[in-house]
Amino acid sequence: MEFIEIKDGCYYFKSAVNIGYILSGDRSMGMLIDAGLEASAAKKALKTLQEERLPVTHLFITHAHADHFGGAQYVQKNVDVHTIAPALEEAIMRYPTLEPMYLFHGNVPLKEMRNKFLEAPPISIDEICEPGIWKKDSFEVTFMAFPGHSYNQFGVLYKNILYAADSFLGKEVLEKHKIPFIVDSASNFSTLQDLLKAEVSGMLPGHGSFLERYEDTIKANIEVHQRVLSQVNNFLIASGDRGLSLEDLISKMLLKHEIEPANLGSYSLFRTAVTSYLIQLIEERKAVYTIKEGRPMVFSGQSSA
Ligand SMILES: [Zn+2]
Repeated sequence: MEFIEIKDGCYYFKSAVNIGYILSGDRSMGMLIDAGLEASAAKKALKTLQEERLPVTHLFITHAHADHFGGAQYVQKNVDVHTIAPALEEAIMRYPTLEPMYLFHGNVPLKEMRNKFLEAPPISIDEICEPGIWKKDSFEVTFMAFPGHSYNQFGVLYKNILYAADSFLGKEVLEKHKIPFIVDSASNFSTLQDLLKAEVSGMLPGHGSFLERYEDTIKANIEVHQRVLSQVNNFLIASGDRGLSLEDLISKMLLKHEIEPANLGSYSLFRTAVTSYLIQLIEERKAVYTIKEGRPMVFSGQSSA
């Protein structure tokens, strides 16, 4: 896990899940941005910061996905940190079973879904962030809301460097995911448009490298989401008056992308993502949703059904 200085006061630990770190001008305060998938990642980050004699006084968690706060409990147990998180996400961080629970339609999740990728150890939250300027003595950052990938994901802007969380993916990661995880397609698109309009010196995604020139990568993200959205729409149009069961729609999308989820947890992430596009089509009246013969069925809004 390489410790990289972006510019004076802005750093990150480069890993499959990046951990950001920012330092106040007087070097008295330091904020970790996310904490990695598990204790071992957080432990490495804290050790490096200690060796570099850099303070850790604050912990900001961008959103309640286990790969971003799995190491947070370790940080809280080992360092006296003031922990900040966005509303709602913060509730899931305090009760992490909510993640496998919402992915498993509200049931008590099967044991196989209660793994480190879907359920992180619980943490306590000291402060809920709001969009805008946040100050503590000489430390001043701007919190920004980036919903879409999760309900109320936030990023943080410091010294004109945007720690963008999972509001977009690095290009390599984008290719690998095929159908990137989102919970709300419409707000995901508007977040990506907001990112394109942002005039910052660089952006760090949660997965991928720091980018000084980020426009192409954000445009590539928009293209992928637009493509997936039209694929869902096209399957509905092709199904005509027969429509598709929700499960068949998901299956068609997975087969199209040659994705064979290894387990229910992985399947449920894709189901949520595909359903996000469907919700946008329903909201835009391009699709309709009904219960037929005991099954949720979806039809194109353009069919006669
Ligand atoms: Zn995430």
